[in-house]
Amino acid sequence: MRLLAIETTCDETGVAVLEGPSPEEPWRVPRIRSSVVASQLDLHQRYGGVVPEIAARAHVRQILPVLRQALRESGVGLEEIGAVAVATRPGLVGALVVGLTVAKTLAWSLEVPLVEVDHLEGHLFACQLAFPERVAYPCVGLVVSGGHTSLYRCDGPIDATPLGGTIDDAAGEAFDKVASLLGLGYPGGPRIEALARSGNPRRFALPRSFLKEEERLEFSFSGLKTAVLYTLQGQPGPPSHPPEPSSPPPPEPGFLADLAASFQEAVVEVLVTKAAQATRRTGLRRLAVGGGVAANQRFREALEQMATREGIDLLIAPPALCTDNAAMAGVAFAKLQRGLVAPLDIDVTPGLVRPSRPSPPHSSTP
Ligand code: ATP
Ligand code: MG
Ligand code: FE
Repeated sequence: MRLLAIETTCDETGVAVLEGPSPEEPWRVPRIRSSVVASQLDLHQRYGGVVPEIAARAHVRQILPVLRQALRESGVGLEEIGAVAVATRPGLVGALVVGLTVAKTLAWSLEVPLVEVDHLEGHLFACQLAFPERVAYPCVGLVVSGGHTSLYRCDGPIDATPLGGTIDDAAGEAFDKVASLLGLGYPGGPRIEALARSGNPRRFALPRSFLKEEERLEFSFSGLKTAVLYTLQGQPGPPSHPPEPSSPPPPEPGFLADLAASFQEAVVEVLVTKAAQATRRTGLRRLAVGGGVAANQRFREALEQMATREGIDLLIAPPALCTDNAAMAGVAFAKLQRGLVAPLDIDVTPGLVRPSRPSPPHSSTP
Protein backbone atom coordinates (compact mmCIF):
# COMPACT_ATOMS: atom_id res chain seq x y z
CA MET A 1 0.00 0.00 0.00
CA ARG A 2 1.24 3.46 -0.84
CA LEU A 3 1.22 6.13 1.79
CA LEU A 4 1.39 9.86 1.15
CA ALA A 5 3.05 11.56 4.14
CA ILE A 6 3.03 15.25 5.03
CA GLU A 7 5.28 17.20 7.41
CA THR A 8 4.76 20.89 8.27
CA THR A 9 5.42 21.03 12.02
CA CYS A 10 8.02 23.80 11.93
CA ASP A 11 9.97 25.38 9.08
CA GLU A 12 10.37 22.50 6.63
CA THR A 13 7.66 21.64 4.13
CA GLY A 14 7.92 17.92 3.45
CA VAL A 15 5.99 15.39 1.40
CA ALA A 16 6.99 11.75 0.95
CA VAL A 17 5.59 8.67 -0.72
CA LEU A 18 6.23 5.34 0.99
CA GLU A 19 5.61 1.79 -0.07
CA GLY A 20 4.18 -0.12 2.86
CA PRO A 21 4.50 -3.77 3.81
CA SER A 22 2.07 -6.20 2.24
CA PRO A 23 -0.56 -7.85 4.49
CA GLU A 24 1.40 -11.13 4.11
CA GLU A 25 4.61 -9.53 5.43
CA PRO A 26 3.45 -6.91 7.95
CA TRP A 27 6.84 -6.91 9.73
CA ARG A 28 8.63 -5.44 6.70
CA VAL A 29 9.87 -1.88 6.98
CA PRO A 30 8.25 0.62 4.60
CA ARG A 31 10.38 1.78 1.66
CA ILE A 32 10.82 5.46 0.83
CA ARG A 33 9.86 6.03 -2.82
CA SER A 34 10.35 9.78 -2.65
CA SER A 35 10.93 12.41 0.02
CA VAL A 36 10.96 16.09 -0.88
CA VAL A 37 11.80 18.80 1.65
CA ALA A 38 11.57 22.54 1.01
CA SER A 39 13.43 24.38 3.73
CA GLN A 40 12.51 27.91 4.76
CA LEU A 41 15.95 28.72 6.16
CA ASP A 42 16.47 31.74 3.92
CA LEU A 43 13.17 33.26 5.08
CA HIS A 44 13.97 33.02 8.80
CA GLN A 45 17.70 33.73 8.68
CA ARG A 46 17.40 37.49 8.93
CA TYR A 47 15.30 37.19 12.10
CA GLY A 48 17.76 34.79 13.77
CA GLY A 49 15.08 32.12 14.34
CA VAL A 50 11.81 30.70 13.07
CA VAL A 51 8.99 33.28 12.85
CA PRO A 52 5.77 31.26 13.22
CA GLU A 53 3.59 33.44 10.97
CA ILE A 54 6.19 33.47 8.19
CA ALA A 55 6.55 29.69 8.53
CA ALA A 56 2.80 29.12 8.15
CA ARG A 57 2.58 31.35 5.05
CA ALA A 58 5.60 29.68 3.45
CA HIS A 59 3.99 26.25 3.97
CA VAL A 60 0.90 27.50 2.15
CA ARG A 61 3.06 28.57 -0.81
CA GLN A 62 5.25 25.47 -0.89
CA ILE A 63 3.02 22.55 -0.03
CA LEU A 64 1.45 21.96 -3.47
CA PRO A 65 4.70 22.23 -5.48
CA VAL A 66 6.39 19.91 -2.96
CA LEU A 67 3.44 17.47 -3.18
CA ARG A 68 3.63 17.43 -7.00
CA GLN A 69 7.38 16.86 -6.95
CA ALA A 70 7.12 14.03 -4.42
CA LEU A 71 4.47 12.29 -6.52
CA ARG A 72 6.49 12.79 -9.71
CA GLU A 73 9.71 11.46 -8.17
CA SER A 74 7.92 8.44 -6.69
CA GLY A 75 6.31 7.45 -9.96
CA VAL A 76 3.07 6.95 -8.04
CA GLY A 77 -0.20 8.55 -9.16
CA LEU A 78 -2.58 10.15 -6.70
CA GLU A 79 -5.13 7.46 -7.56
CA GLU A 80 -2.68 4.82 -6.25
CA ILE A 81 -2.40 6.40 -2.79
CA GLY A 82 -3.98 4.16 -0.13
CA ALA A 83 -3.69 6.42 2.94
CA VAL A 84 -2.59 9.91 3.93
CA ALA A 85 -0.43 10.54 7.01
CA VAL A 86 0.29 13.88 8.62
CA ALA A 87 2.23 15.04 11.66
CA THR A 88 -0.30 16.83 13.87
CA ARG A 89 1.90 17.31 16.96
CA PRO A 90 3.97 18.85 18.39
CA GLY A 91 4.83 22.00 16.44
CA LEU A 92 3.81 25.52 15.52
CA VAL A 93 0.03 25.81 15.36
CA GLY A 94 -0.20 27.77 12.10
CA ALA A 95 2.35 25.51 10.40
CA LEU A 96 0.62 22.31 11.57
CA VAL A 97 -2.76 23.53 10.32
CA VAL A 98 -1.47 23.85 6.74
CA GLY A 99 -0.30 20.23 6.58
CA LEU A 100 -3.40 18.90 8.28
CA THR A 101 -5.71 20.82 5.95
CA VAL A 102 -3.98 19.43 2.87
CA ALA A 103 -3.97 15.92 4.37
CA LYS A 104 -7.69 16.04 5.21
CA THR A 105 -8.54 17.36 1.74
CA LEU A 106 -6.59 14.57 0.05
CA ALA A 107 -7.94 11.83 2.33
CA TRP A 108 -11.50 13.03 1.82
CA SER A 109 -11.29 13.47 -1.95
CA LEU A 110 -9.39 10.21 -2.53
CA GLU A 111 -11.65 8.41 -0.04
CA VAL A 112 -8.70 6.90 1.82
CA PRO A 113 -7.86 6.75 5.56
CA LEU A 114 -6.28 9.73 7.31
CA VAL A 115 -3.61 8.92 9.90
CA GLU A 116 -2.22 11.42 12.39
CA VAL A 117 1.32 10.92 13.62
CA ASP A 118 3.52 12.28 16.36
CA HIS A 119 6.52 14.19 14.98
CA LEU A 120 8.80 12.88 17.73
CA GLU A 121 7.84 9.24 17.14
CA GLY A 122 8.62 10.08 13.52
CA HIS A 123 12.10 11.38 14.39
CA LEU A 124 12.86 8.01 16.01
CA PHE A 125 11.19 5.95 13.29
CA ALA A 126 13.63 7.58 10.83
CA CYS A 127 16.24 5.20 12.32
CA GLN A 128 14.17 2.18 11.32
CA LEU A 129 13.55 3.59 7.85
CA ALA A 130 17.27 4.13 7.39
CA PHE A 131 18.09 0.53 8.34
CA PRO A 132 15.24 -1.64 7.04
CA GLU A 133 17.21 -4.86 7.59
CA ARG A 134 17.84 -4.16 11.28
CA VAL A 135 15.54 -4.55 14.26
CA ALA A 136 15.00 -1.10 15.76
CA TYR A 137 12.56 -1.88 18.58
CA PRO A 138 12.48 -2.21 21.53
CA CYS A 139 15.07 0.49 22.13
CA VAL A 140 15.95 3.57 24.10
CA GLY A 141 14.97 6.53 21.90
CA LEU A 142 16.78 9.84 22.16
CA VAL A 143 15.23 12.77 20.32
CA VAL A 144 17.60 15.73 20.07
CA SER A 145 16.03 18.50 18.04
CA GLY A 146 15.28 22.20 17.95
CA GLY A 147 12.39 21.88 20.40
CA HIS A 148 13.10 18.66 22.29
CA THR A 149 15.76 16.69 24.11
CA SER A 150 13.95 13.62 25.36
CA LEU A 151 14.65 10.02 26.27
CA TYR A 152 12.05 7.32 25.76
CA ARG A 153 11.62 3.66 26.26
CA CYS A 154 10.28 2.59 22.85
CA ASP A 155 8.60 -0.80 22.82
CA GLY A 156 7.50 -0.18 19.24
CA PRO A 157 7.19 2.67 16.72
CA ILE A 158 4.11 4.07 18.47
CA ASP A 159 4.73 2.78 22.00
CA ALA A 160 7.05 5.35 23.52
CA THR A 161 7.17 5.92 27.28
CA PRO A 162 9.03 9.08 28.42
CA LEU A 163 12.05 8.48 30.64
CA GLY A 164 13.08 12.12 30.98
CA GLY A 165 13.88 15.26 29.08
CA THR A 166 15.25 18.74 29.31
CA ILE A 167 14.15 20.99 32.14
CA ASP A 168 14.94 24.15 30.15
CA ASP A 169 16.41 24.53 26.65
CA ALA A 170 16.50 21.80 24.03
CA ALA A 171 19.98 20.91 22.76
CA GLY A 172 19.25 22.30 19.27
CA GLU A 173 17.88 25.46 20.82
CA ALA A 174 21.12 25.79 22.83
CA PHE A 175 23.14 25.41 19.61
CA ASP A 176 21.01 28.11 17.98
CA LYS A 177 21.26 30.52 20.95
CA VAL A 178 25.00 30.03 21.43
CA ALA A 179 25.56 30.52 17.70
CA SER A 180 23.74 33.81 18.04
CA LEU A 181 25.95 34.79 21.02
CA LEU A 182 29.03 33.96 18.93
CA GLY A 183 27.68 36.08 16.07
CA LEU A 184 27.38 33.07 13.75
CA GLY A 185 23.74 33.63 12.78
CA TYR A 186 21.04 31.08 12.06
CA PRO A 187 20.83 28.08 11.87
CA GLY A 188 23.22 27.59 14.75
CA GLY A 189 23.88 23.85 14.76
CA PRO A 190 25.69 23.48 11.44
CA ARG A 191 27.57 26.77 11.92
CA ILE A 192 28.88 25.83 15.37
CA GLU A 193 29.86 22.42 14.04
CA ALA A 194 31.80 24.01 11.17
CA LEU A 195 33.61 26.51 13.42
CA ALA A 196 34.32 23.88 16.09
CA ARG A 197 36.31 21.80 13.59
CA SER A 198 39.26 24.18 13.93
CA GLY A 199 38.81 24.70 17.69
CA ASN A 200 40.21 23.16 20.87
CA PRO A 201 37.33 21.41 22.73
CA ARG A 202 39.34 21.29 25.97
CA ARG A 203 40.22 24.96 26.22
CA PHE A 204 37.18 26.05 28.26
CA ALA A 205 35.77 23.97 31.11
CA LEU A 206 32.02 24.45 30.60
CA PRO A 207 29.31 22.96 32.86
CA ARG A 208 27.82 19.54 32.16
CA SER A 209 24.54 19.27 34.09
CA PHE A 210 23.59 16.09 35.98
CA LEU A 211 26.43 14.20 34.30
CA LYS A 212 27.29 12.06 37.29
CA GLU A 213 23.70 11.65 38.49
CA GLU A 214 23.18 8.21 37.04
CA GLU A 215 19.50 7.99 38.03
CA ARG A 216 18.55 11.44 36.79
CA LEU A 217 17.60 11.20 33.13
CA GLU A 218 17.21 14.93 32.69
CA PHE A 219 19.06 17.60 30.77
CA SER A 220 19.71 21.28 31.38
CA PHE A 221 21.46 23.53 28.88
CA SER A 222 20.64 27.00 30.14
CA GLY A 223 23.61 27.11 32.57
CA LEU A 224 25.92 26.06 29.75
CA LYS A 225 24.55 28.82 27.56
CA THR A 226 25.14 31.36 30.35
CA ALA A 227 28.69 30.05 30.86
CA VAL A 228 29.37 30.63 27.16
CA LEU A 229 28.07 34.19 27.53
CA TYR A 230 30.33 34.89 30.53
CA THR A 231 33.34 33.38 28.80
CA LEU A 232 32.61 35.59 25.84
CA GLN A 233 32.44 38.61 28.12
CA GLY A 234 35.75 37.54 29.65
CA GLN A 235 34.50 37.21 33.20
CA PRO A 236 33.88 34.26 35.47
CA GLY A 237 30.69 35.49 37.21
CA PRO A 238 27.50 37.39 36.32
CA PRO A 239 28.03 40.58 34.31
CA SER A 240 28.00 43.91 36.12
CA HIS A 241 24.69 45.77 36.35
CA PRO A 242 24.24 48.03 34.57
CA PRO A 243 26.52 46.55 31.91
CA GLU A 244 29.65 48.48 30.95
CA PRO A 245 28.86 50.80 28.04
CA SER A 246 32.24 50.19 26.44
CA SER A 247 32.25 47.22 24.07
CA PRO A 248 34.66 44.41 24.96
CA PRO A 249 37.93 44.14 23.02
CA PRO A 250 37.77 41.85 19.98
CA PRO A 251 38.68 38.25 20.86
CA GLU A 252 42.07 36.83 19.80
CA PRO A 253 42.13 34.58 16.75
CA GLY A 254 41.00 31.06 17.59
CA PHE A 255 39.00 32.16 20.64
CA LEU A 256 35.60 31.71 19.02
CA ALA A 257 36.53 28.38 17.44
CA ASP A 258 37.80 27.10 20.83
CA LEU A 259 34.62 28.31 22.52
CA ALA A 260 32.41 26.71 19.85
CA ALA A 261 34.33 23.43 20.16
CA SER A 262 34.21 23.50 23.98
CA PHE A 263 30.45 24.19 23.90
CA GLN A 264 29.79 21.41 21.38
CA GLU A 265 31.88 18.98 23.42
CA ALA A 266 29.90 19.77 26.59
CA VAL A 267 26.56 19.15 24.84
CA VAL A 268 27.82 15.98 23.19
CA GLU A 269 29.26 14.56 26.42
CA VAL A 270 26.00 15.13 28.29
CA LEU A 271 23.82 13.65 25.53
CA VAL A 272 25.99 10.57 25.11
CA THR A 273 26.34 9.97 28.85
CA LYS A 274 22.59 10.28 29.50
CA ALA A 275 21.82 7.95 26.60
CA ALA A 276 24.18 5.36 28.08
CA GLN A 277 22.59 5.82 31.52
CA ALA A 278 19.13 5.28 29.99
CA THR A 279 20.22 1.99 28.43
CA ARG A 280 21.53 0.85 31.83
CA ARG A 281 18.34 1.97 33.58
CA THR A 282 16.04 0.16 31.15
CA GLY A 283 18.27 -2.81 30.50
CA LEU A 284 17.73 -2.23 26.77
CA ARG A 285 20.83 -2.79 24.63
CA ARG A 286 19.63 -0.80 21.64
CA LEU A 287 19.66 2.98 21.12
CA ALA A 288 17.94 4.99 18.37
CA VAL A 289 18.84 8.66 18.01
CA GLY A 290 16.81 11.15 15.97
CA GLY A 291 16.27 14.88 15.47
CA GLY A 292 18.28 17.64 13.82
CA VAL A 293 21.18 17.64 16.31
CA ALA A 294 21.84 14.00 15.39
CA ALA A 295 23.15 15.38 12.07
CA ASN A 296 26.20 16.64 14.04
CA GLN A 297 29.29 14.64 13.09
CA ARG A 298 31.06 15.01 16.43
CA PHE A 299 27.92 13.78 18.22
CA ARG A 300 27.66 10.81 15.87
CA GLU A 301 31.31 9.88 16.45
CA ALA A 302 30.93 10.09 20.23
CA LEU A 303 27.75 7.97 20.11
CA GLU A 304 29.52 5.32 18.05
CA GLN A 305 32.46 5.20 20.46
CA MET A 306 30.12 4.85 23.44
CA ALA A 307 28.04 2.17 21.68
CA THR A 308 31.15 0.13 20.90
CA ARG A 309 32.44 0.51 24.45
CA GLU A 310 29.12 -0.44 26.08
CA GLY A 311 28.10 -3.09 23.56
CA ILE A 312 25.01 -1.17 22.48
CA ASP A 313 23.33 -1.59 19.11
CA LEU A 314 23.20 2.00 17.78
CA LEU A 315 20.79 3.20 15.11
CA ILE A 316 21.32 6.69 13.82
CA ALA A 317 19.86 7.79 10.51
CA PRO A 318 21.89 9.66 7.88
CA PRO A 319 21.73 13.45 8.41
CA ALA A 320 18.99 14.06 5.82
CA LEU A 321 16.67 11.75 7.77
CA CYS A 322 17.61 13.34 11.13
CA THR A 323 16.36 16.81 10.29
CA ASP A 324 12.68 17.34 9.51
CA ASN A 325 11.29 15.34 6.58
CA ALA A 326 8.00 13.64 5.72
CA ALA A 327 9.33 10.11 5.23
CA MET A 328 9.49 9.68 8.98
CA ALA A 329 5.69 10.02 9.07
CA GLY A 330 5.85 6.48 7.68
CA VAL A 331 5.40 5.58 11.35
CA ALA A 332 1.73 5.79 10.26
CA PHE A 333 1.93 2.20 9.00
CA ALA A 334 2.16 1.04 12.61
CA LYS A 335 -1.05 2.96 13.32
CA LEU A 336 -2.83 1.53 10.29
CA GLN A 337 -1.90 -1.97 11.45
CA ARG A 338 -3.77 -1.23 14.67
CA GLY A 339 -6.69 0.36 12.85
CA LEU A 340 -5.85 3.78 14.25
CA VAL A 341 -7.46 5.95 11.59
CA ALA A 342 -8.27 9.59 12.35
CA PRO A 343 -11.70 11.16 11.78
CA LEU A 344 -11.78 14.11 9.39
CA ASP A 345 -12.59 16.58 12.17
CA ILE A 346 -9.34 16.15 14.10
CA ASP A 347 -7.33 19.20 15.06
CA VAL A 348 -3.64 19.90 15.58
CA THR A 349 -1.98 19.63 19.02
CA PRO A 350 0.85 22.20 19.12
CA GLY A 351 2.15 21.21 22.59
CA LEU A 352 3.53 17.92 23.79
CA VAL A 353 0.89 15.32 24.51
CA ARG A 354 3.07 13.36 26.89
CA PRO A 355 5.18 15.79 28.86
CA SER A 356 8.34 14.45 30.43
CA ARG A 357 8.57 14.06 34.20
CA PRO A 358 7.78 17.12 36.32
CA SER A 359 10.78 19.43 36.43
CA PRO A 360 12.56 20.33 39.63
CA PRO A 361 13.14 24.04 40.22
CA HIS A 362 16.07 25.39 38.21
CA SER A 363 18.03 28.57 37.82
CA SER A 364 16.79 31.34 35.53
CA THR A 365 18.23 31.91 32.05
CA PRO A 366 19.99 35.11 31.04
P1 ATP B 1 11.22 19.50 16.99
O1 ATP B 1 11.59 18.28 16.22
O2 ATP B 1 11.63 19.44 18.43
O3 ATP B 1 9.82 19.90 16.80
P2 ATP B 1 12.56 20.95 14.93
O4 ATP B 1 11.74 20.08 14.07
O5 ATP B 1 12.63 22.39 14.62
O6 ATP B 1 12.12 20.73 16.43
P3 ATP B 1 14.76 19.62 13.82
O7 ATP B 1 14.43 20.12 12.47
O8 ATP B 1 14.65 18.18 14.08
O9 ATP B 1 14.01 20.41 14.96
O10 ATP B 1 16.23 20.09 14.16
C1 ATP B 1 16.61 21.42 14.03
C2 ATP B 1 17.63 21.69 15.10
O11 ATP B 1 18.78 20.88 14.86
C3 ATP B 1 18.12 23.13 15.13
O12 ATP B 1 18.14 23.57 16.46
C4 ATP B 1 19.52 23.04 14.55
O13 ATP B 1 20.42 24.02 15.04
C5 ATP B 1 19.93 21.65 14.97
N1 ATP B 1 20.96 21.12 14.08
C6 ATP B 1 20.87 20.88 12.75
N2 ATP B 1 22.05 20.46 12.26
C7 ATP B 1 22.91 20.43 13.30
C8 ATP B 1 24.30 20.10 13.46
N3 ATP B 1 25.03 19.73 12.41
N4 ATP B 1 24.84 20.20 14.68
C9 ATP B 1 24.11 20.58 15.75
N5 ATP B 1 22.82 20.92 15.68
C10 ATP B 1 22.21 20.84 14.47
MG1 MG C 1 13.49 22.78 11.13
FE1 FE D 1 11.77 18.01 14.15
